Parts: sequence; C-alpha cells; structure tokens
Amino acid sequence: MRFADIRGCDGLVEALAGMVDSGRIPHAIMFHEDDGGGGIPLALAFLQYLYCQDRRSGDSCGACPECNKVSKLIHPDIHFIFPVAGKDLSSRYMEEWRELVKENPWFRESDLDAALGIEGKQGIISVAESRGIIDALSLSAVQGGWRSVVIYLPEKMNQQAANALLKSLEEPSESTLFLLVTHSPEAVMTTIFSRCLHMRIPPLSEEDFLAVHPENSPDYNAFSDLFHDLVVAIEERDLTATIEAGEAMAALPSREKQKNFCRAAGESLRRIFLLQQGLGSIARIPEDEMDFYKDAAAKLPKKFPRMALAWFDRAAKLVGANVNQKILFSDLTGRLFTI
Ligand SMILES: [Zn+2]
Repeated sequence: MRFADIRGCDGLVEALAGMVDSGRIPHAIMFHEDDGGGGIPLALAFLQYLYCQDRRSGDSCGACPECNKVSKLIHPDIHFIFPVAGKDLSSRYMEEWRELVKENPWFRESDLDAALGIEGKQGIISVAESRGIIDALSLSAVQGGWRSVVIYLPEKMNQQAANALLKSLEEPSESTLFLLVTHSPEAVMTTIFSRCLHMRIPPLSEEDFLAVHPENSPDYNAFSDLFHDLVVAIEERDLTATIEAGEAMAALPSREKQKNFCRAAGESLRRIFLLQQGLGSIARIPEDEMDFYKDAAAKLPKKFPRMALAWFDRAAKLVGANVNQKILFSDLTGRLFTI
C-alpha cells in the first residue's frame, strides 16, 4: 500500500510523510476512522513509507524488498493485534488477517469477525496479547530499524490488557512505533488514549466509499442481478442468454454505470475466487446470494475469476474511450463464454 493508493486524506498523508522525512516520529499514533473508513490502509502506507529503502517524492517506491514485505504483511518487525475470541491470540490468525487485508484493506469490523469465524461473539484483546507484544518488542528489530505494532480496535482491550501495555507506551524503547486504529476513541482506556497522538481520518467521499464498498451502491441489486444472469448463462453453456446479458450491459443508462458494473463484477469475481480457494469465510458474501456464489465456484473453471477479472478491467477502461458499447460488451461476453 502506497500513499498514492489512499483515498481522500491528503492532509494526513502529508503530515505522516513529514514525520518520517524529519525523523520526528511519535511513539504512538491513534487513527480515528469510521468503520471501513481506511485506518488500516493509512497505517500500512505509513509503515511502508517508513521502511522503504527507496522513498521518492513523498511516497514509498512500492518495489524494494522492504515495501514488498510490508505490503504482504510479512515484515518481521511489524506486529498486528486485533480482537479475537476469548484468550486466543491474533498471531494464530495471521493467515486470515492477511487474506482479509489483501482482499479489501478498507474492511469493516464485521468483515474481520467473519474472517475469524467469531460473528456474534465478543472479540477482545486479552492480557496475553499485550504480554506477547511486550516480549516481541524486548527483542531487537530483526532488520535493525523500527519495530512497529499495529493495534486494530484498541477499544477492545480490557483493563488488564491495557495496563500490561501501558509501560511500553509510557516509556517506549527507542525506534518503537505503535499505530492504533479505533472506531470508538471514547471507549479506549484513558491511560492508552492519553499517550497517543490523534489523527481523525475524514469520512470517505460518497464516490470513494462506493468504490471500496460496492455492495452499498444503490445500483448493487441491479448489478448483481445482471451479473448473476451472465454467470448462470455461462455455466449452462447458453450462448443466447450470454449474448443477452451483454446487451443488457450495453443498455445500462450511462458510461459511468457501465464502468461501475464492471467494478462490481470484479468484486463478485473475487468472491468466486475466494470460495474456490476455500476462503469463503472472508469473501463477504451476503446471505441471500450464498447459493449463487457456491454454485458459481463449483461450476466455473478455476481460471475463470482471474481471466474474467482481466477482461472486465479492460472493458472498464474501454468504456471511457470512444468505442461502440454494443460491440464492446458483446466482445466481452464472447470472451467470457470461451474461458
Ligand atoms: Zn520501497
């Protein structure tokens, strides 16, 4: 994640880059976000900038080994803590966490619960978690630089956990950085709250919000009906119905809607991909669409989501260019039919 990928917080990006550039980095920063509003992406872009070995014009390079490790969430000096069930530890769920963040860094709290399989349970950050982090921080950085801890939802820390962590926050050892992402700053233990520098992430614009949470689009139902028709037609090897779906795409009332449909299709294809990989729990599939997606995952070839995604991306780009919509979408559906 680079600063360039962050949506709608230029002021914060500038301030964070400035901290790294000047070498004046606070020991703890608390980002206040709306649920799904981009605290984790901003924290990751900041860390990537901090660790990057080839910073350029206020952003990380996105290509060096450090950038690579940060973006894959496998940097040995970056630790993640998030609420889990009971006395469990976040470190046991790193695989799920990485998949979730990779799938949509603008995920919501409920998406995390679903990814961990703890929907309806009370996720907490336990004292064992705090102690584990203190142990990890007592070792020197594997790569000799900053040691960082990202805490998602510090408001889920109980008193004991907060107390255990407090010393690290009060007397941080050198080159230790805490980044906390909260939805409810008022619910964070005051002892923790008062030791952080605070940054409020402005709410996403409507356009940005829908880009990262397409399921909230007012067109979502129409788009998903159309996508379902298309996929079922392809599954059943029904060429006529496939062509009709293409015509319905070309008939969407504006180029903007056609483009949004292609994006929404991308999101749906990711869900099918995740189901095929056995990662349905993080695919954020609405209950009433589960049967459709399970069917699609079982019937479509494994290469379908990846290839179809590339064709939809291409179509989204071409929609903006001056091409004939009918030809564009009949070409698209033809290609999808033969995957
Ligand atoms: Zn880099």
